[in-house]
Amino acid sequence: MTTFAPPVEKPRKRDIYRLPWSMNDNPFGWLEVTDRCNVYCKGCYRQQLTGHYPMEQIKHDILFLKEWRNCDHISIAGGEPLIHPQILEILEFIRDQGLKPLILTNGIRLHQNMEFLRELKAAGCFGFTFHIDSAQRRPGWFGKSELELCELRQQYAEMVASVGGMYSSFGCTIYPSNIGEIPAIVKWANDNIDIVNGLVFITYSGSVVTEDLAYTVGGEEVSAQGELSYGDADADEITLTSRDVYDIIRKHYPHYDAVMYLGGTQVHSAIKWLISMQMGQKGKMFGSVGPKSAEAFMAGGHFLFGRYIAYMAPHRMPKLAMVASLFDPHMRKIHFNFWREVLKNPRKLFEPIYSQSIGIVQGPDITEDGRADMCDSCPDITVWDGKLVHSCRMDEWRIYGNYVTPQVKKEIAEAGGELLPERREEDTDEDERIYLPVMGD
Ligand code: SF4
Repeated sequence: MTTFAPPVEKPRKRDIYRLPWSMNDNPFGWLEVTDRCNVYCKGCYRQQLTGHYPMEQIKHDILFLKEWRNCDHISIAGGEPLIHPQILEILEFIRDQGLKPLILTNGIRLHQNMEFLRELKAAGCFGFTFHIDSAQRRPGWFGKSELELCELRQQYAEMVASVGGMYSSFGCTIYPSNIGEIPAIVKWANDNIDIVNGLVFITYSGSVVTEDLAYTVGGEEVSAQGELSYGDADADEITLTSRDVYDIIRKHYPHYDAVMYLGGTQVHSAIKWLISMQMGQKGKMFGSVGPKSAEAFMAGGHFLFGRYIAYMAPHRMPKLAMVASLFDPHMRKIHFNFWREVLKNPRKLFEPIYSQSIGIVQGPDITEDGRADMCDSCPDITVWDGKLVHSCRMDEWRIYGNYVTPQVKKEIAEAGGELLPERREEDTDEDERIYLPVMGD
């Protein structure tokens, strides 16, 4: 009898590098400084309950992250961190701890405000991830397409580049309504590789709060409808996976490929984080680095600095990096494409080569038996009341004092549990997908 292995969709986990991060050794530290915001983003996981957090709490959380995460940088999030009145003091405190402060912002408070940008840099700001997407209610830009929003992304990228020495990347939540515009965003980023460090695509997740599930905290049933920040998601909108985003980029840009991943905590086939590191010059992309280079970078960074490194502000690559061609066939291809360009135009030899990342993040899902499939080694875990909790589900702690556990109701289970098909990576029938929470990294 012949046995056939089940087909596995690309990218296959065995072909890419599984990031070595863990709970206590992770380059990411996620700090929330406020739950207020000045714009509406569809899918935001944070309810406005308390306002700006006091400085003492913020300092405590920074020191907690430094102690327990061994992090390289602190992502300052919220809410909108730039409206916190002590944002400069927060940046200085993080810098003085020897950590890199990275601001996750909608950018509204920075818009055409070079003086504020310079103040942020002087206070130690390492860089920004600007969250801009077509489902935001952004004054002056509401109803614009992703392609039109590239004009706004360009403004921010040029502002940051004009001050210099800071990292800038752009986050975009992906819905069925804008997934077709991903290639336009990638093209914009590639065209501006000299001033854009990276892109982050976050598949929109939400909770289909269903009567088939009971939501409990400590054994007590709670109402999930209307009380959880992720409880009102439109079921038709929450259908996308990281592989869907990967596929569409690969289809349009053969130079793109994934190199690193994080899986799920429950579903063996899930890919929750999928990262690519492209390389190119202004006007020409050469390819994406391979898993051997990624492993060398991660292990080498940890060996040299005692912690993993996730972000580098100057993304101009020394040509010496091509030495990785010795052990990385993907790098050999990049090397080959570079020299081919040089033969066509010798001036290219003296132009810089840049790296540019593309991260894809897929939020948590619920399996058919009610387990939450989170990102393995969650990079965006944060501090709540002296413990580390997933930032995407922190509102459960703020409202209920613990995670809310969905469970298949007894009568449904006794009926065979057929009503809740698991969201399977290999079964992409949209009608059968069930998603738990939230997103917004
Ligand atoms: S906070 Fe949630 S979505 Fe973000 S990395 Fe962690 S588990 Fe994934």
